[in-house]
Amino acid sequence: MAHRQFFVGGNWKSNGTQASVRELIEQVLNPTQIDFARVQVVVAPVSIHLQFARSLLKPEISVSAQNCSLTGPGAFTGEVAAEQIIDLGLSWTILGHSERRTLYGETDDVVSKKVNRALAHGLSVIACFGENLQEREANVTLDVVARQLAALKEGITDWSKVVLAYEPVWAIGTGRNATPEQAQEVHAMIRNWLGTNVSAEVAAHTRVIYGGSVTDQNAAQLIAQPDVDGFLVGGASLKPAFKVILEATNAHHLAQFP
Ligand code: PEP
Repeated sequence: MAHRQFFVGGNWKSNGTQASVRELIEQVLNPTQIDFARVQVVVAPVSIHLQFARSLLKPEISVSAQNCSLTGPGAFTGEVAAEQIIDLGLSWTILGHSERRTLYGETDDVVSKKVNRALAHGLSVIACFGENLQEREANVTLDVVARQLAALKEGITDWSKVVLAYEPVWAIGTGRNATPEQAQEVHAMIRNWLGTNVSAEVAAHTRVIYGGSVTDQNAAQLIAQPDVDGFLVGGASLKPAFKVILEATNAHHLAQFP
């Protein structure tokens, strides 16, 4: 079995003030004791807080943007380019989050091109995808995920810099998480897809993380699934529950790879 370092991302979305970010970092994140060789931790504040969060966080915790532009620097009001994220000394961005896809019209093609551009400029990418409720109920989840993966593959030039985040849209921010079995089914399919369509090595080494209403109550069961390599956490990453999620992830890695 490949020994994959687990990965936990905190997506803070468009939440927080400088005061609440400071409190979260000083009271929840920095005091959390985990083995960072086992669990990579990356938090994504709103872009205007990126540098502030970086200045407060302990160095083992990385900071990620939540999005980056399809374009370079220039006359693109409101956009943040990969070059500017790199210039802050940061090395991660989330791309393709369902809120970007549904609220801001980002298509598979746009997400793939953004991934390509981010990688070309040296960023690592948390690439998000997943089916909506209608698609799950129509039993086309695996087809939808395969389509999204195929589009992502077009943009990916270095798989070692990509974490795949399976986030069923119906589970995001709804309090209704995928069951461990539902998550495992799709994660196993993703790993098979990588083996068939990319390479056995990429299938063995790529972290596939789950997102969608992960909490301190369900993290331990979800991380126990063999193809779940961590989480992308929204709401609970803004609370003390995040510490429990990080510790549960660390504990499972330790149990799996003593
Ligand atoms: C997310 O925004 O990526 C997410 C998974 O949110 P939540 O944990 O709140 O469902």
